[in-house]
Amino acid sequence: MFTPRRFSSVPRRTFLKSSAALALLGSTRGVASAAGAGKAPSFEDLQRIMDAPVLSLESVKAPVNVASIELLKNGKTYLVRARSTDGVEVVTVPNPASMAKAFPIFLDWAAPQFLKKDARTIESVQKEAYRAESNYKMQGLLFWVAMTAVEQALLELMGQTAKRPLADFFGGARRRDIPVYYASGNRGNTPEKEIEYLQSLVGSSGVRAIKFRLGGRMSRNADSLPGRTEALIPLVRKTFGDAMTLYADANSSYDAKEGIRIGRMMEEYRYAFYEEPCEFDDLWSTKQVADALTIPIALGEQEFSLHRWRWCIANRVMDVVQPDLHYGGGFIRATKVARMAAAAGMNLVPHMSGGGLGYLDVVQFAAFTPNIGPFQEFKGDAKIPVSCPTSSLKCENGMVRCPTGPGFGVTVDPDFVRKAQVMKLG
Ligand SMILES: [Mg+2]
Repeated sequence: MFTPRRFSSVPRRTFLKSSAALALLGSTRGVASAAGAGKAPSFEDLQRIMDAPVLSLESVKAPVNVASIELLKNGKTYLVRARSTDGVEVVTVPNPASMAKAFPIFLDWAAPQFLKKDARTIESVQKEAYRAESNYKMQGLLFWVAMTAVEQALLELMGQTAKRPLADFFGGARRRDIPVYYASGNRGNTPEKEIEYLQSLVGSSGVRAIKFRLGGRMSRNADSLPGRTEALIPLVRKTFGDAMTLYADANSSYDAKEGIRIGRMMEEYRYAFYEEPCEFDDLWSTKQVADALTIPIALGEQEFSLHRWRWCIANRVMDVVQPDLHYGGGFIRATKVARMAAAAGMNLVPHMSGGGLGYLDVVQFAAFTPNIGPFQEFKGDAKIPVSCPTSSLKCENGMVRCPTGPGFGVTVDPDFVRKAQVMKLG
């Protein structure tokens, strides 16, 4: 069932769909050239991309030896504090909701693997850490959340040491002002209430793209409110007009048959992508939906396996890849997904983990990724006290400006850090 097949055997209509998807999404330079070349990557091509190192670290001239990596907590906010033997200290912000569950993995296993190592060797250390002591047997979302927290800290440590922005380690910044779409988190409210809410999001931010929720979330076809989905799909288009880019997320609500029925409605009202129609790990039903429809299917926020990413891209399970920058193991792994997707002429729109500085991570990633989609997910401004001399960190005229300072370009309020408790395993 899961035997990989060569991309060259993918039906022609898949490629026609690829072009349609790109037209709807608005192509970027990288994607346009990949798609325009008209050559499909082989499974082996994708494997080579997956295995190739990602980081460009020429600007980090000397070793950045890791002296300590600590986990801190202030209220519900987790912080990672890392120091180098040269005395550089950084503080980064992991995903709060998942760190609340993953912190024992971080403390007991992930962070210690990187101590006394040169941060410049992070990619090989990540590989060794994955193999060590059969740790790969426990890989899953929480495992990769913990690994991401370490990765962020070490990228920041290198950025602050070399005084270079994060984008430099990933091929350089391509854009600074990142157009975002505002994502509504509501489900179960009436269509009229949801329209009012979406109007308030657009009014306060100036966004030119929005996303709302369909179905009942992992609900085996039941809607959150009878008839809500069928009412909202046309109503949102009618309310916001043709100039607004519309996305909708089913959060695993449907089987293939119902997923296709809802998708046809979205096609009728010119939606630009349809996210997670079927249960997220039911790749087979998702592919059925994708094959039946012309609307681009978006998927991947819970995916942490690079092998499954490769298979999904080669077999066109989705049209828009959506790795989460925390759940999927960090920027390095997400970049591998982006590069595999680019080879197949596909766009990437990262999923944004709620809380923490998730929106800022998305903006940073979008700044350097060639085949990024036209709008990135945005769910509101940070509640974490940070300062940034190069960006307001707010959504203005539908865009968030990517910071350009060293590392992630923001400083967590030292007082907030001082008041945080250092976490230890009991
Ligand atoms: Mg989603």
